[in-house]
Amino acid sequence: EENHRESLMIVTAYAAKFFHESLLDTEEGQNIGLSYFKERGFSNDIIKKFELGYSPDQWEAFTGEALKNGYQQQFLEESGLSVKRDNGTLYDRYRGRVMFPIHSFTGRVIAFGGRTLKSDKNVPKYVNSPESEIYHKSNVLYGLYFAKKAIREEDNCFLVEGYADVLSVFQAGIENVVASSGTSLTVEQIRLIGRFTKNITILYDGDAAGIKASLRGLDMILEEGLNVKVVLFPDGHDPDSYVRSVGTAGFKKHIEDNKKDFILYKTDLLLKDAGNDPIKKAEVIREIVESVAKIPDSIKASVFIKECSYLLKIDERALLSELNKMRMAKA
Ligand code: ATP
Ligand code: MN
Ligand code: MN
Ligand code: MN
Repeated sequence: EENHRESLMIVTAYAAKFFHESLLDTEEGQNIGLSYFKERGFSNDIIKKFELGYSPDQWEAFTGEALKNGYQQQFLEESGLSVKRDNGTLYDRYRGRVMFPIHSFTGRVIAFGGRTLKSDKNVPKYVNSPESEIYHKSNVLYGLYFAKKAIREEDNCFLVEGYADVLSVFQAGIENVVASSGTSLTVEQIRLIGRFTKNITILYDGDAAGIKASLRGLDMILEEGLNVKVVLFPDGHDPDSYVRSVGTAGFKKHIEDNKKDFILYKTDLLLKDAGNDPIKKAEVIREIVESVAKIPDSIKASVFIKECSYLLKIDERALLSELNKMRMAKA
């Protein structure tokens, strides 16, 4: 069992090296992959540290080389790097993509995300490794191995959506950043962060999908007993594009100026739609109290009820009685 996992990790490590060398040392890799990363503003340091790579645009470039070097078909297939044809032969899952190796939190490569360089709408933008014995995506956070020291030191973890967001924010000197790439945020990922800090700041994309995901993430984080803040970016921006457009100082300032605790975030977001309609307003209040009801610590919850009462100009006792009702219903 342990041998099996080890064999898989030997293959993924070999693949990371293959893709990284193909990015840096081949003409195709340099012209296509490296120039793409350079255009996106990634430094050589970041490219090296995160072992970014390039998969040649051929059917068997990687698989052929791996087999020639004695790597077994079984592990190539199980790691998801190679895919089996009907006739039993293997071909490369990743072709002509820039490669983002995904590290376990102990620093071993366990999977990959590969981004297409085509703008063809029919081609998936990212292809990620399938689940395997070494890669359970719900338990993995992209960047955690590189971020964990800073997460402890800062006692806060920035949570972003994508690979590029992690890299750009890290490159800007903000190293306590991870992404739940390839899946929507899971309870296991929140618990993993909880080993390093109790404070999470959500930095999702400034679009409808990002806002929706932030509301879902926020409730899950509260339920795990962690503290959560949210920062919205201007529509059309994600942390990667934003930090590149305003620089490190501007990015930090935007976070400081726009960081909201979940009550304020939800209030601002939901009240905007409710306007002065009392029925809609009541609905908003109920939704916010629902989030508060998820907080396991009742003292913390009562502090948030106070804030809620102040912001919404609602009698605190009414909110508390609603909170108690919801708690009873849950129990
Ligand atoms: P880029 O900046 O390279 O265009 P992004 O990270 O901003 O990419 P989003 O569309 O915001 O891309 O997606 C966020 C994350 O969701 C990606 O980094 C990737 O992990 C995941 N993702 C996006 N598209 C797909 C896809 N088609 N299949 C699987 N995962 C995807
Ligand atoms: Mn998005
Ligand atoms: Mn992006
Ligand atoms: Mn994005």
